[in-house]
Amino acid sequence: MQKVSNTLTQKKEVLKPFDNAQGKKLRLFVCGPTVYDFSHLGHARTYIAFDMIVKYLKTKGYDVFYLQNITDIDDKIINRAKEKGVLPKKLALEFEKEYLKDMRGLKITSITKYARATDHIKEIISQVDRLLKKGFAYRIEDGIYYDISKFKNYGKLSRRTALQAEDSVSRIDDSVGKRNRGDFCLWKFSKTGEPSWPSVWGSGRPGWHIEDTAITEKYFGPQYDIHGGARDLIFPHHEAEIAQMEAISGKKPLVRYWLHTGFLTINGQKMSKSLGNFITIRDFLKNNSFRLLRLFVLKNHYRSPIDYTENEINAVKSQLERIDELIDKLQITNYKLQANSKFQIAKYEKEFYSAMDDDFNTPKALSIIFELINKTNSLISQNKLTKQGAKDILEFLKKIDGFFGFIFEGRTKEKIPEVVLKLSKEREKYRKEDLWKKADEAREKIKKFGYLIEDTKAGSKIKKI
Ligand code: AMP
Repeated sequence: MQKVSNTLTQKKEVLKPFDNAQGKKLRLFVCGPTVYDFSHLGHARTYIAFDMIVKYLKTKGYDVFYLQNITDIDDKIINRAKEKGVLPKKLALEFEKEYLKDMRGLKITSITKYARATDHIKEIISQVDRLLKKGFAYRIEDGIYYDISKFKNYGKLSRRTALQAEDSVSRIDDSVGKRNRGDFCLWKFSKTGEPSWPSVWGSGRPGWHIEDTAITEKYFGPQYDIHGGARDLIFPHHEAEIAQMEAISGKKPLVRYWLHTGFLTINGQKMSKSLGNFITIRDFLKNNSFRLLRLFVLKNHYRSPIDYTENEINAVKSQLERIDELIDKLQITNYKLQANSKFQIAKYEKEFYSAMDDDFNTPKALSIIFELINKTNSLISQNKLTKQGAKDILEFLKKIDGFFGFIFEGRTKEKIPEVVLKLSKEREKYRKEDLWKKADEAREKIKKFGYLIEDTKAGSKIKKI
């Protein structure tokens, strides 16, 4: 039974598809990027977490449709394009391409469909039109706005009253003619030189929140299963989505389960483009593998904040090495060791999956993997791991890597030079013949090539220094 924490109810609930008649079908929407710059590790944090969640749900037999929007029209895009002297459309397309490249680099492969805001203007206009007709929206000089006082439950996701919502207007569109301070823009009339689309109210462009409900209504209808994003989006963005779609359809809830990721921080501050304190995904990947980043992210619960420090990255590096070493050992030892042991993988599997079923508790699940690594290492050193035991462990690790994506995925086995392999064979031969001096000389020669020989019960192992 899969449980998820739901921001809307503030409870952990059993995940049940909205539409039972559809079997195990789940519709999931996650807010995508605003494409005006390179993506950073904060984005990676959120998108790796949802990649794991979707892939895990798929291994449990759910048929997940994962939809993500691309915000390719917005003030930030227009301003950055102006600074660079390019057209906003060109800038957005360029950074959309870079975003998709970064996602591929992180092996984020679970998204079923990406939907650009500008490809859904017709759907956006239709939503604004219905909101106007139903009396939830009004027109003023610079655009069409949503009247939050008309929506009875405004604030139900972020647990704010409409008044409190009005107080936190820092990220809500500013305009002198608004009825309530917290009202947000649905359609902005364009200024000269800005991108615009024709509408019956005058040419303009969509506001910040309406693109998401227009896109989800098109692909999922008025109600669906899961909505995700980082926690900064709870208010006003996700609150606004609820107000828009529930007002249009008269159906509630818009979404059954709201899942929010914690921030990736650096020196305690949210990593963000606007604060300028970010490390881009591609800069990180210049010196590190995507495996390191996936483990770094998944060591933490998706809802918890993560602080980025060099120390933590180094700690994760050595954990990854421990995993790699174990796989190396299992791959050489599985045909050598035949001893009897009462080792049972089932206990680890059971604990692992119950952690994952409990709101995707990856830190707990990973601590079980590290327990398994300790246990396996100790069995190997006592010559007690059976061939079957090694096979079972490898199979288990392969299976869970389908959603973790850092155990086998992208693991490059370094090719050991021929000369080192030859010297190692010679050394083995000398050892068997008790020619210890010669064996030591061979070991020294191997060292000069930058490799170490480690003698384990399972045989000799060559390691790069
Ligand atoms: P943006 O491109 O800023 O609209 O962000 C795209 C997605 O990444 C949204 O779900 C954001 O909430 C999320 N995000 C941005 N910065 C961070 C961060 N520092 N930590 C976690 N998620 C983030």
